[in-house]
Amino acid sequence: MLKNHEKFHSANGKRTILVADDEQINRAILGAILENDFEVLYAENGKEALEILEENREIISVVLLDLMMPVMSGMDLLRHLKEEPELQRIPVIVLTSDQTAEIECLSLGAIDFISKPYPQAGVILARVTRIIELSEDQQIIHSTERDPLTGLYNREYFYRYAEQFDQFHKEMDMDAIVLDVNHFHMINERYGKHCGDDVLRRVGESVRNVVRESGGIVCRRSGDTFMVYCPHREDYRDILENASVSFTEDASSDNRVRLRMGVYSRVDKVLDIERRFDRAKSASDTVRGSFAKTIGFYDSAMLETELYEERLVEDFSAAIRQEQFTVFYQPKFNVRSENPVLSSAEALVRWQHPELGMISPAVFIPLFENNGLIQKLDTYVWQHAAAQIRDWKDRLGVSVPISVNVSRIDMYDPGLVEEFQALLKKYELLPGEFLLEITESAYTQDSAQIISTVKRLRNLGFMIEMDDFGTGYSSLNMISSLPIDALKLDMKFIRDAFRDGKDTRLIELIIDIADYLNVPVIAEGVETEEQLNALRAMGCEIVQGYYFSRPVPAVEFERFLKG
Ligand code: C2E
Ligand code: CA
Ligand code: CA
Repeated sequence: MLKNHEKFHSANGKRTILVADDEQINRAILGAILENDFEVLYAENGKEALEILEENREIISVVLLDLMMPVMSGMDLLRHLKEEPELQRIPVIVLTSDQTAEIECLSLGAIDFISKPYPQAGVILARVTRIIELSEDQQIIHSTERDPLTGLYNREYFYRYAEQFDQFHKEMDMDAIVLDVNHFHMINERYGKHCGDDVLRRVGESVRNVVRESGGIVCRRSGDTFMVYCPHREDYRDILENASVSFTEDASSDNRVRLRMGVYSRVDKVLDIERRFDRAKSASDTVRGSFAKTIGFYDSAMLETELYEERLVEDFSAAIRQEQFTVFYQPKFNVRSENPVLSSAEALVRWQHPELGMISPAVFIPLFENNGLIQKLDTYVWQHAAAQIRDWKDRLGVSVPISVNVSRIDMYDPGLVEEFQALLKKYELLPGEFLLEITESAYTQDSAQIISTVKRLRNLGFMIEMDDFGTGYSSLNMISSLPIDALKLDMKFIRDAFRDGKDTRLIELIIDIADYLNVPVIAEGVETEEQLNALRAMGCEIVQGYYFSRPVPAVEFERFLKG
């Protein structure tokens, strides 16, 4: 590794300077002053200078530029440099006798001036050296504090600058804003990573341009999420509108990226800066998937939720120790024949909190998925489910397969396969008795690793049900190459299909896909006889839902076993 300042040296250890001046005498004077300490390259006009710059962009530390030159003037060269990101970083000192040109040069990106006739050699040397130092320092800062893709601050520096900003503007009302690109992975998939990167760059740039005016700062938080910290504003739409860049050349309105925004307005400065952005992020999540609403605001209701969730996290360990979690079971019936036959049960966890009462997994599962507690909880549920299968076998002499939910986070655990094997061994179960429900969206995230884990599990005889099918974005390509044993149709399809004016086309499509893959479809959330009959007519084999039973405690479930 090069030490920071070393990377700027040319081969002989000196930094390189480009002198661009059409007059031989001026080149000679500057050369005499600089050649002792620097490697000096010369150009006689702007065009030549540009060519030299392009060839030596890595090593040129500074350009001394005359404004009046034939072929291409110094001013034109400055304009050129401004356009090219890679040349932009090279500082330019303008050599001029015309004081009035200074303003224009500055606006074109010149960093300093040396007036003609030239001042003393010592003055020139000192200036040049100083400018080089400054620009190198800035580049070092830049290379560590910026996100390489967008050139925006990275998260760490962003937080630091935001804190600094607060110190100097203690009284100022500030907003924390999070911007997410909707369905960004679709852009990547359809148009390629190159296009995706380009979109992120342009979104970043547009946001920066809007908020810079008001003194705001911007960073890329990760992936397709941006953060903005800016003085409080009343209207946020301009940020959103500017950031909705188009993702193909043809800039008509329907190929603009859709963004959603979360605003935590007039932040409470007592909170850590990160917490403020967590709040903005939560606000953004409230409008996820909504077409009508693109901006979500953090409000007092969300504050209450936040406090409630904190409480749940705090109480988690004790709850596990004291077995406050119970596992409920919901039957799945095979409906191919006239009389439905019990085929398996899904294990669904409940939290019987001593003070807060019964809590639904819809509340705590997403929370525990965010902070990693889910693994402990799932292990707990799997243990109980396995013990339950054993118990029913021993006591009632029946074997009912039980499916457990495997969270996306669990799938990253390198010990997962062994954990399931140990479980089977402990309770002397067959792999076919222990079904695994893995949500479709898990496959879309880091498919390679997940697919290999699924394959290992399946080779060992475990059966995999793809849960929530139709809500993730797995490709047909992927699921057909991936061995699964059932598609579990997400509840929303049934809900939508039977709302007003029955429309079951989507369900039929999914059943088609399942046929093609040669696996059964499990429909969940079936509540009425009408739904049951329609699904059955479409060829759906297995049905789960309130029509048959809600999830119930193990004892209650036994009525399905004795029947
Ligand atoms: P899921 O895996 O999609 O489970 C189905 C959910 O639909 C369950 O909600 C179930 O009670 C509900 N449901 C079943 N039939 C009907 C019906 O006919 N109508 C309606 N309206 N709802 C029905 P529940 O038990 O609240 O679980 C919610 C989610 O929490 C589950 O969705 C699952 O993603 C997660 N979950 C539950 N238990 C566990 C667990 O032990 N581990 C993990 N990782 N996730 C779990
Ligand atoms: Ca499930
Ligand atoms: Ca589901």
